[in-house]
Amino acid sequence: MWKEFVANARLVSPGNRRRFTVVVVGTGLAGAGAAAALAELGYTVDVVTLHDTARRAHSVAAQGGINAARARRVDGDALERFVRDTVKGGDFRARESEAWRLGRESERVIDHMNALGVPFAREYGGSLSTRSFGGVQVSRTYYSRGQTGQQLQVAASSSLMRQVATGRARLWVRHEMLDLVLADGRAAGVVVRDMRTGELRVLRSHAVVLATGGYGNMWYHSTLAKNSNATAIWRAHRKGALFASACFVQFHPTALPVSATWQSKTTLMSESLRNDGRIWVPADPDEQRPPGDVPEDARHYYLERRYPAFGNLTPRDIASRAARERIEAGHGVGPLKNSVYLDFRDALERLGREVVAERYGNLFDMYREATGEDPYERPMRIAPGAHFTMGGLWVDHQLMSNVPGLFVAGEANAAYHGANRLGANSLLAACVDGAFTIPLTVPDYLAGLLGQDLVAEDDQAVRAGLEEVNSRTEALLGAGGAVPAKEFHRELGALLYRNCGVVRDRQGLQEAVGQIADLRRAFHEDVQVTGTSGEWNQDLVEAARVGDYLELAQLTCVDALHREESCGAHFRAEHQSEDGEALRDDASWMRVSAWHSSGWGDEGGSAQPVEFVHHQENLHFRTVQVATRSYR
Ligand SMILES: Cc1cc2nc3c(=O)[nH]c(=O)nc-3n(C[C@H](O)[C@H](O)[C@H](O)COP(=O)(O)OP(=O)(O)OC[C@H]3O[C@@H](n4cnc5c(N)ncnc54)[C@H](O)[C@@H]3O)c2cc1C
Repeated sequence: MWKEFVANARLVSPGNRRRFTVVVVGTGLAGAGAAAALAELGYTVDVVTLHDTARRAHSVAAQGGINAARARRVDGDALERFVRDTVKGGDFRARESEAWRLGRESERVIDHMNALGVPFAREYGGSLSTRSFGGVQVSRTYYSRGQTGQQLQVAASSSLMRQVATGRARLWVRHEMLDLVLADGRAAGVVVRDMRTGELRVLRSHAVVLATGGYGNMWYHSTLAKNSNATAIWRAHRKGALFASACFVQFHPTALPVSATWQSKTTLMSESLRNDGRIWVPADPDEQRPPGDVPEDARHYYLERRYPAFGNLTPRDIASRAARERIEAGHGVGPLKNSVYLDFRDALERLGREVVAERYGNLFDMYREATGEDPYERPMRIAPGAHFTMGGLWVDHQLMSNVPGLFVAGEANAAYHGANRLGANSLLAACVDGAFTIPLTVPDYLAGLLGQDLVAEDDQAVRAGLEEVNSRTEALLGAGGAVPAKEFHRELGALLYRNCGVVRDRQGLQEAVGQIADLRRAFHEDVQVTGTSGEWNQDLVEAARVGDYLELAQLTCVDALHREESCGAHFRAEHQSEDGEALRDDASWMRVSAWHSSGWGDEGGSAQPVEFVHHQENLHFRTVQVATRSYR
């Protein structure tokens, strides 16, 4: 399908390209890649980031690596295997055609990023080195020590800055997109707020690309950068863009456990550690001995025993569920008994300290700095933490949402990963979207708009956009309450972990829908936002994001309640096999759920219940055989 599209995509001739303006929101791997490529092609690009530089996006935090189906090692990898692994990893809840695009383009992504200067790890002989990630039995993950995202982001943002220097791309740093502007039903620009001065402006365009990352921070304690948020995609949803698979969120099994109530986030320990670390809990819940003194027969290597074929490298959803189950059964370790061990004792014996340090040294340093414990001496303690959102705005094969001219790239869309993302497939998706998909699909759309002007500066759509954002801001500043937005966020996060976390059930979700609506009402009555709108105001920024989370959270629970099956990371307690595995219902649910919602009222002011309208896209698998997902 992608090959066909590439062969037949409509093009814009070089002389006409600068007549088209594209707004790209976000300068992570997806946004920086897309903006740089579109500008290089000759389009006029406005690129927006809430950070102080294009280089600082969540993508820098990615540690482990980026997948590519290049079969460098003779271990049986192939493009078809990549597609199979990705579709199976997502538990058959995403389009097969997207996996094909990802696999096909992965072959050149590595060369592309390599050419931009990414220092990929190499073998002694000079060829690129690879390692394994969860859910696969081959070694297809390319990496730069534990800083793959950082190195990719340096490359992508540098190529963007080159375009900024040529004047083809204009970079708006410290600008936050707060709304989408529609004209005649098409995306025609975005409303942005200069976070330093509070000034609002509309960036008008022929097409808009949202590359604003994931919404995992909705769970409060998450592995994401604190600045990641849902506002751009949520506001686009409020303007009519369908939100797909909101309840598909991945809890990473190797996050650091929460150790105190004041803690504002959790830190990720890379999945690559599961290549050599062994996960276990004491067989006896009352075990008192330090981990190093617990003998082999008193250790329960639950992943290795339950999933012998994949062992410690089972996919994340399965590893997280198994950890939660052990913790709930009272076998958790650490002061709060809320974690499991990730132990390098055997690897240190087998490989020696030098090799382990070479492979994981910076991750070990990070762990030591975060916890004060030395992983060379004592096993790490890890626990499931909200990490990656497979859900996002619904897009078609060209990454366009149901709103004409609104494209969505990277983690912000719901294109690739179905109900569970495979490790190292997300940097790949962000790079492919940015460097290869958007630069082809946006021009295909623009080709049909030749001769069309930008929406006028004084158009009603532009004025309405500014007025809406203004009145939302004034409502928050005027709420006059006494509770900081962070407190509502913390409460929302706890509620979501409890009722819409690693495991969910009908009753918990029903309760959550009502409780979130109450929390939202309380938020708009009691939130305290100090300062004014005409200055740097972190309180205001945070309150606006929390207000959006409170709405998206309700949709997320409605989506989880609606999907009466277990699949991937969406594990409904009512739907499990006798041996506790996810029980899919392909006859009813082999489809993507996408939602339209309305009736939110003005900032919690509506007395009417919100209306959620369900749409569905049926999934068909042509090359991958649908089967029960088993890693045993
Ligand atoms: C700790 C951690 C480690 C990870 N490791 C890996 C890994 O090893 N391999 C892998 O494949 N994946 C990994 N992932 C996932 C991967 O990092 C992300 O999915 C990917 O980087 C997302 O890239 P992106 O370009 O879509 O978004 P981001 O990098 O999140 O960029 C979003 C951009 O949007 C901007 N933005 C957001 N909202 C607004 C707004 N309203 N207005 C203006 N600007 C806005 C931000 O400033 C930023 O520039 C990891 C994730 C985490 C949390």
